[in-house]
Amino acid sequence: MALVGVLALQGSFNEHIAALRRLEVKGVEIRKPEQLETVASLIIPGGESTTMAKLAEYHNLFPALREFVKMGKPVWGTCAGLIFLANKATGQKIGGQELIGGLDCTVHRNFFGSQIRSFEAEIAVPELASKEGGPEVFRGVFIRAPAILDVGPEVQVLADYLVPSNEVLDSNYAVEAQEENTGSEKKVIVAVRQRNLLATAFHPELTADTRWHSYFLKMATETGEEASSSIVAVGAD
Ligand code: GLN
Repeated sequence: MALVGVLALQGSFNEHIAALRRLEVKGVEIRKPEQLETVASLIIPGGESTTMAKLAEYHNLFPALREFVKMGKPVWGTCAGLIFLANKATGQKIGGQELIGGLDCTVHRNFFGSQIRSFEAEIAVPELASKEGGPEVFRGVFIRAPAILDVGPEVQVLADYLVPSNEVLDSNYAVEAQEENTGSEKKVIVAVRQRNLLATAFHPELTADTRWHSYFLKMATETGEEASSSIVAVGAD
């Protein structure tokens, strides 16, 4: 099994490495651009995306991370990692913050409000149902979580979440929604896939359930092979 990198600047990277270990896969901490060359796929953990962006900039990681995504290598962003991968982010304090980009979606940071509005919810994920008819429900841990507000044509929606009507949403979103006159829209997207990119607004690494990690490893095997065969094809020209 190829090595899986875990961006280890800040946030829940240890928890991702522990989840991979439970599946007998080695996760490698990534802090420097050259370390990305040693891994076949990458997980960007949850944490605090402004802090993570500052650290990534300090370690000059952005060019190598963008290249990794462009090469078609498998990357999974959880929570702050999702924000990092998005082409566009809105919401609190997002101005000027660097993103890796590549995932054709608009993500709203801190969509559900402040830290004390964090919650757990059962979400339906048909992709996680086993062939034997195993459960497709996953208990999502949402910690000051973002939500995906719209996606491009190549993005597959894996899960959405119907926000309860009494939920207090981020005040920035409320203002934007009023301006757009879409105040009643309460269904948001919380998990997506776009070819080699996977993103979840919640934190599977904080649960004992390893189905998302298994899903990513399977996806990494499939798309990783495509990525290396296209590199060989380019090299052969
Ligand atoms: N709210 C955080 C941010 O904007 C993300 C939270 C998380 O990763 N749990 O970066």
